Amino acid sequence: MSAASAPSGPRSGAASTDARRPVVDPTTTAAEKAAAKAWKVDLRELGRRAGTMREWDKTLPAQAGWGVEMIGVPEGAPVDLHLRLESVMEGVLVSGTVDVPVTGQCARCLEPLEDTLTLDVQELYAYAGSTTEATSGEDEVRRIDGDLLDLAPLVRDTVVLTLPLSPTCTPDCSGLCVDCGERLDDLPADHSHEVIDPRFAGLAARFADLNDSADGAQPGSGSTDSKEN
Ligand SMILES: [Zn+2]
Ligand SMILES: [Zn+2]
Repeated sequence: MSAASAPSGPRSGAASTDARRPVVDPTTTAAEKAAAKAWKVDLRELGRRAGTMREWDKTLPAQAGWGVEMIGVPEGAPVDLHLRLESVMEGVLVSGTVDVPVTGQCARCLEPLEDTLTLDVQELYAYAGSTTEATSGEDEVRRIDGDLLDLAPLVRDTVVLTLPLSPTCTPDCSGLCVDCGERLDDLPADHSHEVIDPRFAGLAARFADLNDSADGAQPGSGSTDSKEN
């Protein structure tokens, strides 16, 4: 298979003048471009002979938008990659672990959260022109763009799929007291506010009404008194 220099077909679209050049949003800064480039592995060093293997241990800055609503990887945070790139018939098999720092907020008590996740990855990237490329959708099997294998979408997708939608500071965080808003885990176990038993709530409300009308009567009678003056 000698598809390396062949144009990679209609899917490249705008990039067809040079399929190897990544499509970069012109509004991105030089720093962002450099950060995006760092995530792309140049496969020319690996070679295409099936069985060739290369270790890929690197620390790279996280890109923007790697997270869900309440938790995510801060942009630029160091992501440790411990990967192995293995040349196989159809492409390159990427496997190993990725350590990503995440920050967020407890969904129950809103305390700030900080953690490092270790994620396992194993993913096949298909060569342009390979049978795998021809018989699978781009959303099913990742593609190799020319000689470049972009690790960023793999790590981003793995992070986003792993992150909990409702992260908690501890597995059994009790959340906040609905009355005073303090963290229940910081309060004594018998913390409570004087709450009227719901069975007597109606009665209590009636007493409150009686008190109100009694209070209301006072100024009324007072004013009649003053009118008489
Ligand atoms: Zn919490
Ligand atoms: Zn309270």
